Amino acid sequence: MKVMRRVSSLVPGGGALFQRVFTRLGCDGRPPRFRVEYFPYANLVLPIRRRGDSVFVRFSDLLQRAPVPVLEGAAALLLSRVYRRKAPRALVEPYLNYARSDRTRSRVSRMRRGRVRLASTGPRGRHFDLERMFEELNDKYFSGGLQRPHIGWSMRSWRRQFGCYDPGPNQILLNRRMDHPGVPQVAVEYVLYHEMLHVKHPTRRSGCSLVSHSSEFRAEEKHFAEFDRARRILDHLAR
Ligand SMILES: [Zn+2]
Repeated sequence: MKVMRRVSSLVPGGGALFQRVFTRLGCDGRPPRFRVEYFPYANLVLPIRRRGDSVFVRFSDLLQRAPVPVLEGAAALLLSRVYRRKAPRALVEPYLNYARSDRTRSRVSRMRRGRVRLASTGPRGRHFDLERMFEELNDKYFSGGLQRPHIGWSMRSWRRQFGCYDPGPNQILLNRRMDHPGVPQVAVEYVLYHEMLHVKHPTRRSGCSLVSHSSEFRAEEKHFAEFDRARRILDHLAR
């Protein structure tokens, strides 16, 4: 997935805002210099980087119109992570509420649709054909009723994930690392099945990493014929 436009702009008063929150959290030592900018992420991510006595922060430009308490909450969340402080709930809450609101979520997915390009890789890997696999799983577990999203292999190998469904571009990606003769087909099928369940049980959240699995989802996951075996193989691959 690629972000198309990458222009950042400084957050007005961002440095002062972080200094303020730094003090409120009771972080030790002299406050660093903060450089805070907006960046056109396709998501509400908040990267923070410390280099020497400077700290660089990037807010998604989705926060551009957010009220100050929301930005302070985001700052508190980030600083508590970097300085290992517990951020007071009251300080963080405005940000969490903002991030979780339906309005923000729909803005995020609207924006993602424009920013996230579909993977240029197709479903056919060197060893596994995900399109054919999808059709077989669809017949077997969904009575053929699941609409086929875009399916592809990740451009690069991922370290943490076997697969992902992103509702924004409506796309399933499987970790390229699994397209390998040493990986049993049942493991690939299971990962694809899992992502297909995300197509069936959509969440409003965009992106790959912030998905939660309901108990209903978990129960349906166990319908997979070789569930235990597939899980064991994945546990092994994850090592
Ligand atoms: Zn999942």
